[in-house]
Amino acid sequence: MVSRMVGRREFLKSSVIFGLGALVFRKLKFFPFAETSEAKVQSRPVLISTWRQGIAANEMGMKVLSEGGTALDAVELGVRTAEDDPKVMSVGYGGLPDECGHVTLDACIMDWQFNAGAVAFVQKCKNPASVARKVMELTKHVFIVGEGADRFAKMMGFPEVDLLTDEARKRWLEWKRSMSQNDNWLSPEENHDTIAMLALDQQGRVAGAVTTSGLAWKIHGRVGDSPIIGAGLYVDGEVGAAGSTGVGEAVIRTCGSFLVVEYMRNGMHPQKAVEETLKRVLKVNKKWIDKDPNFQVAFIAVNLKGEIGAMGLRKGFQYALYKDGKNQFLDAPNLI
Ligand code: ASP
Repeated sequence: MVSRMVGRREFLKSSVIFGLGALVFRKLKFFPFAETSEAKVQSRPVLISTWRQGIAANEMGMKVLSEGGTALDAVELGVRTAEDDPKVMSVGYGGLPDECGHVTLDACIMDWQFNAGAVAFVQKCKNPASVARKVMELTKHVFIVGEGADRFAKMMGFPEVDLLTDEARKRWLEWKRSMSQNDNWLSPEENHDTIAMLALDQQGRVAGAVTTSGLAWKIHGRVGDSPIIGAGLYVDGEVGAAGSTGVGEAVIRTCGSFLVVEYMRNGMHPQKAVEETLKRVLKVNKKWIDKDPNFQVAFIAVNLKGEIGAMGLRKGFQYALYKDGKNQFLDAPNLI
C-alpha cells in the first residue's frame, strides 16, 4: 500500500517534471524565438509574394497553413504554383531561356532556425525550390549547382523535364532575330518577375522561398541573386524575413535581403527597412541604374508582428499580400 502510494507520488512528480521539461524543450527547440518574443502580434498568418503569380502562391500557402502545414511548407508549395505554370515565363517550367536557348533555374529556401538550401543552374527539374528544400533537410550542404544539382534532383526522385516550352522557344528565336550590337544582355527589359514568397504562420514561425529562371537571354552560366542566401532571401526567426526581385547583380552587391533583415533587427519597421535598403542599392549601383530606365529592384519583408514592407526602386512593382483573411494584389511605392 505504502509503496503503491509512494509510487503514485513519484509518478505524479515525474509527470510534472516531464511536463515542464517538455514545455521548456518546446520553447527552446521548436519555437526558440517566436514565443519568447516581446513582439506584439498584429496579425498572423501573413503571406507576401512578389508579382501577379503571388496571388496563386498565397492562395496555395493559405491552404497549406489551414491544413496544418508550417510556414516552410506554405512557401515551398506556394512558389510551386508558379514553377508549374508555363504561363509564368520567369519561373520554372516555361521560363525564358538564356542566350543559348537553355532554361536554367535558380532557387533557395530558408526557415526560422537558419536552415537553408539552394540550387542554381538547374536544367532538368521544374521545381528547384523543392530541390533546395531537400538540400537543406537531407544534406550537410547549403548550395548545389549545375550538373550536380540536376543529379541530386534526380536522386531525390524529381522527374527529368524539358523546361523549354514552344512559346519560350518562339520568344527566344524572336530575340535572336532582332539582336543588334546595342543589345544589353543584362537589361531587365524582358521581365523581372521572380517569385519571392515569405510566410509568417499562426505560431510565429517565419520562412521564405525564391525561385526563378533568371533574367531572360542572360549569358549562359549566369546566376543572379535569387538562389543566394542573404541576397535574394534571408530569414531570421528572431526578426523576420526579406526577399527580392529585379536585377540580381544589384542585389548581390548589397547583400540586399540580409540588409533588410538587419535593419529590422535594429528596430526598423519593415517598410522603412526596404526603403533604406533600396537607398543603399541605388547608391551602390548608381552608374548602372542611371543608364537604364528599366533597371528595377524590389524587396518584400515581414517581421514577427506581421507588419510588412514592399517597395520598388522604380514604379511598377506589384505584390500579393494575404493578411487579415484577405488576399490582395497591391501596387508598391517606389523610391525614384
Ligand atoms: N532577380 C532575378 C535575377 O536576377 C530576376 C528577377 O527578379 O526576375 O535572376
